[in-house]
Amino acid sequence: MIPVMRPWFGPEEEAAVQEVIASGWVAQGPRVAEFEREFAAFVQAGHGVALSSCTTALHLALVLAGVGPGDEVVVPSLSFIATANAVRYTGATPVFADVDPATANLTAKTVEAARTPRTRAAIVVDQAGVPADLDEIRAAHPELALVEDAACAAGATYRGRPVGAGAELCAWSFHPRKLLTTGEGGMLTLGDAEGAARARRLREHGMSVSAADRHATGSTAPERYTEVGFNYRMTDLQAAVGLVQLRRLPELIARRRALAARYQELLAEVPGIGTVTDPDYGTTNYQSFWITLPGDFPMDRDALLAFLAGRGVSARRGIMAAHLEPAYADLPTPDLPATEWLTRNSLILPLFHTMTEAEQDQVVAAVRAAAEG
Ligand SMILES: *Cc1c(COP(=O)(O)O)cnc(C)c1O
Repeated sequence: MIPVMRPWFGPEEEAAVQEVIASGWVAQGPRVAEFEREFAAFVQAGHGVALSSCTTALHLALVLAGVGPGDEVVVPSLSFIATANAVRYTGATPVFADVDPATANLTAKTVEAARTPRTRAAIVVDQAGVPADLDEIRAAHPELALVEDAACAAGATYRGRPVGAGAELCAWSFHPRKLLTTGEGGMLTLGDAEGAARARRLREHGMSVSAADRHATGSTAPERYTEVGFNYRMTDLQAAVGLVQLRRLPELIARRRALAARYQELLAEVPGIGTVTDPDYGTTNYQSFWITLPGDFPMDRDALLAFLAGRGVSARRGIMAAHLEPAYADLPTPDLPATEWLTRNSLILPLFHTMTEAEQDQVVAAVRAAAEG
């Protein structure tokens, strides 16, 4: 079976983990601090705060933006459900906006349609690694706090710079379904030093002095708990893996972009199939290679997934829509035509670093066989 995704590791990751174990300090410590510095430099952000996941990074981003009960936050329904869940953690209400059918991302116009006087913020997702047009949204909605959900977008570019470079608050994921993985893990990048210091306290129970700093300095002064915090820490074991993975990222993206270009060329011969591609203002890292089916395709999306599985190809449904899930059934039913079309008619094809051209040919042959009925 050709998998939809496979992480790319080498002996360097194993050696890095062994080194941390041998050091005797495996929780958040010097490797986390080093990973934060290197990742923030890579995405050209002022500060990086390593966390346990992108979900916790989104939660802290909203806390730093001052979002709380009574506020509304505009989010795309067409996203992994963590985007909307993070809003609920703050006591605020998510309001679902539609997306551009070509990029699968929010636009200034779709945010406008979801706004009310209670809207405090929006979470702009770079869906599947395709950058959203953040400048356009910011220019049209200067009153809103914008949080970028760049879970999928490490190494994608926006207007000639890395995604995240211009963001006030940007959340990243290092889950194995993403390009750069630490097993589980996330990061919040931001420009503001005070916000970064507060996020570092909040990830560690609101402590005024981190355990790692106490260990490093030998300080015996008792710590204070300045506000109610969380345990959202990353471990040094994870960060050590992340440092190696970060060095692999440029090669990983080059390979994905080459394989994606080959998919686009081969699938252009199957009538009506749409494929994800770069928007005109940036480049995607092809975190997920999604295709859309034309209305006259001989089978529906779920039948196609079963057909592909029968031919040794593990594909996945396209991006989910949170407003169709029971967890959000209590909200008013929004009118989201592009979201509903994309979630029903798209699927994600296998794409991973060690994928061979023969495997890719097998995937395309299976899609073509389905198209021919
Ligand atoms: C994967 C993903 C998340 C969640 O990331 P975790 O690190 O697993 O918490 C959030 N948003 C989007 C868009 C994602 O794709």
